[in-house]
Amino acid sequence: MNDMPQKPIALFDMQAQQSLIRAKLDARIAHVLSSGRFINGPEVVELEERLAAFAGCGHAVGVSSGTDALQIAMMAEGIGRGDAVFLPAFTYTATAEVPLVLGATPVFCDVDPLTFNMDLADLQRRIALVEAEGRLRPRAVVGVDLFGRPADWPAIEAICAAKNMFALDDAAQAFGGDIGGRRLGCFAGATALSFYPTKTLGCYGDGGALLTQDADRAALYRSLRTHGEGGGRYEVLRTGMNGRLDTLQAAILLCKLDLFEEELAARTRVAGWYAQHLDGTVALPEIIPGHAWGLYTIKLEDAAARARMQEALKAAGIPFGVYYPKPLHHQPAYAAAHAGSIGQAPPLPVSEALCHEVMSLPMHPYLEEGDVARVAAAVRAAA
Ligand SMILES: *Cc1c(COP(=O)(O)O)cnc(C)c1O
Repeated sequence: MNDMPQKPIALFDMQAQQSLIRAKLDARIAHVLSSGRFINGPEVVELEERLAAFAGCGHAVGVSSGTDALQIAMMAEGIGRGDAVFLPAFTYTATAEVPLVLGATPVFCDVDPLTFNMDLADLQRRIALVEAEGRLRPRAVVGVDLFGRPADWPAIEAICAAKNMFALDDAAQAFGGDIGGRRLGCFAGATALSFYPTKTLGCYGDGGALLTQDADRAALYRSLRTHGEGGGRYEVLRTGMNGRLDTLQAAILLCKLDLFEEELAARTRVAGWYAQHLDGTVALPEIIPGHAWGLYTIKLEDAAARARMQEALKAAGIPFGVYYPKPLHHQPAYAAAHAGSIGQAPPLPVSEALCHEVMSLPMHPYLEEGDVARVAAAVRAAA
């Protein structure tokens, strides 16, 4: 160890990016301030056009958060009481919260131990159990592209098509990801994005979007995000919500979109450096084309090994995160819904184990190979 003070490494870094686009941000923000069009300003429309073009999906609708994107998509399908919504037990809370808010029942599915995405054999087993019980109607599958790795969308779409269920992509962690060159946004009936500051494309507050290839759905989403309004401002066609993306956040996102492709490439480089520097030490995420690398999540042998790794990284001044420490079916708020979803629900062993085994290392486009080497050295020393 030398005595040179070392540059701190951030888990996520929003400052490095900001310094690159600061002049553009200032100009865009100043323009919104002087225009006074804080809601539904032209920047929102411009952003929607650019998001749709980027994803190649036809339509993008700016909304107030990733959570509201999920909610608006489910409201548009009329999902509610008596409906079963299948989703992974190992994901962020919002994925399960939304069906409950709408009166529907989340059915938690286990995940694959290597991809951390929904285990589709388990999904099909649970759909069959719900069908056999006949109490709830299988209505929708919410696939999550966890940590930026696209779920197996062609397979999820096929399952949903066979059962006449709605497929909803929770791509909150994965915008920019693709499958065989087709970007997320082109799969499922709708794709929900979050622009929470630490996501692959983040704003400076809350924001989100819905992507869809269906013009009718896009029109419905626009109505729902504005209290269900119809053609005229004060005509209310349906029960909606206040779920708009504000103009300032759209202006900020437009500046950030200019860097987005480069940043995705930089994230892929960072993942490659981790793979080189950590090879053979701990279980690493598989490098696949189209991974958006929202998070870089390693897996330790067990809870004790993870605790040791956490202590070692803390001592070395390396930040990390644990996504997620508790599977959703064990959350106090969701336990009752889980118990009421399927009479004899099969266990969720992979989701439960991963909560004790995973941890996420620093991942952002402005990490240099030397930073990754420092993180890797600390991990190697403790592995
Ligand atoms: C962040 C996130 C959300 C919610 O997005 P918000 O913009 O914070 O509402 C939903 N699902 C997943 C998987 C997420 O990571």
